[in-house]
Amino acid sequence: TSEPLYCIGCGAKIQTTDSTAVGYTPQSALKKGLENGELYCQRCFRLRHYNEIVPVSLTDDDFRRLLAQIRDANALIVYVVDIFDFNGSMIPGLHRFVGDNPILLVGNKEDVLPRSLKRSKLTDWVRQQANANGLRPLATTLLSAKNGRDVDDLLTLIDKYRGDRDVYVVGVTNVGKSTLINQILKQNSGVADLITTSRFPGTTLDKIEIPLGEDHVLVDTPGIMHPEQMAHFLSAGALKYVAPQKEIKPRVYQLQGEQTLFMGAVARFDLLFSTTDSRTTGVSAYFENNLMIHRTKLAHADDFYRDHAGEILTPPSQEELADLPELTRHEFRTTEKSDLVIEGLGWITVPANVTIAGWAPKGVNVLLRRAMI
Ligand code: GDP
Repeated sequence: TSEPLYCIGCGAKIQTTDSTAVGYTPQSALKKGLENGELYCQRCFRLRHYNEIVPVSLTDDDFRRLLAQIRDANALIVYVVDIFDFNGSMIPGLHRFVGDNPILLVGNKEDVLPRSLKRSKLTDWVRQQANANGLRPLATTLLSAKNGRDVDDLLTLIDKYRGDRDVYVVGVTNVGKSTLINQILKQNSGVADLITTSRFPGTTLDKIEIPLGEDHVLVDTPGIMHPEQMAHFLSAGALKYVAPQKEIKPRVYQLQGEQTLFMGAVARFDLLFSTTDSRTTGVSAYFENNLMIHRTKLAHADDFYRDHAGEILTPPSQEELADLPELTRHEFRTTEKSDLVIEGLGWITVPANVTIAGWAPKGVNVLLRRAMI
């Protein structure tokens, strides 16, 4: 084939095959762009014409290269995480890549956590989890990119800390980074004007620079894919039932020993043994409100799953079941009030001194953490 083509907006190599990767341009737009000599990738095109950031992702290696560039930049890092999927939002080794650059930690999707939960307590929890992952953010803030709540607090923090630095927004895919940037664009009409009129400064790699104020830029970086994200195992239809859209209403169960909860056919929780004094053990399930939870006896659970996955236990549907990796079992014993986390799906809060098992599609992380709530 001929010479590679590059987007005149962000400098990414143009490709027409993967709409979720950088440099994607639909075939028809490629033709037009070549004709009028202004070839933009779809991401730059939509930003210029619709003031909208389209999410794109990078592979591990490319992402690491990009992070290495940030280390050498004079940057304020805005690190966006999904508080509903905190563990799945972690960029491994981020603290090593940012070098001396300061970090603002943004816990997005606060709208899905119960209103009754104190935001100050939640912020403390997010900060502690970040510290445990080796991150020492200058500040930690919660917001909802979707409804715009507290986005102005973030803008105030950015103003306070950026000094003469550019602002780099980083995050794994699906944490809501694009939604957040679009919300910032919406709340800054001045910025929006600049974007539609100015030409993007061509940058070296896949980053998009958005003018922010007089002489600063906000840099959108592609998200890194976490291969173990639940999102990669489910169809768009099934995802609707597992990705929380609204405030989660915790579902509380009083379980006897040796009982099982099925979350659709995508996950399973077994209470094996409890040394709490009472006869029953209270557990609270935090999942999308529409995800069906079915309770059975542990002794029947395997048979029940075999007979009813894809029917009573759904999502996924019967047709999609074949694409779901087999559920794999992970056993834990708690010493304090803890969350059994099925990464990207939700969690079950259990008391101290219980033995439990969590099941998730092979490849999806299952872990125990200090209880969030
Ligand atoms: P990106 O890959 O990090 O750029 O993520 P997107 O901005 O594409 O968002 C991923 C998904 O999360 C989309 O379905 C969004 O609608 C949803 N989302 C983003 N921000 C929020 C939020 O504040 N609250 C809720 N409930 N959902 C959000």
